[in-house]
Amino acid sequence: MLNQIPISSNGDYTYLLTWYLLLVLIVLIIFSTLLSATRRRVLVTLRGMRTITVLQCEKCDYKEEREFQVGDYVLKRVGECAKCKGPLYISMIYGVPEKGPPRPYGY
Ligand SMILES: [Zn+2]
Repeated sequence: MLNQIPISSNGDYTYLLTWYLLLVLIVLIIFSTLLSATRRRVLVTLRGMRTITVLQCEKCDYKEEREFQVGDYVLKRVGECAKCKGPLYISMIYGVPEKGPPRPYGY
């Protein structure tokens, strides 16, 4: 009884298409929600952080901290020591949460 199964009847086709479109719409909504949430979190994290570069002398115990600058990397030579004129290098780069006005999302 093959003709009892209405595979290609017009009514069923639109029914399937409606469900398909609904599914695609739901997936799109979920994806855009996830994406915007992730993007917002990244922005908040970047805005809430200060990056510090620690400079250290190779010869003595002189240490200096300054704001991170583009091009900084650990073990990079950055001039000379203020105390003994020895070579100064970057020993550490780290981020600290910025103090300031309260931020949303608890960061
Ligand atoms: Zn020194």
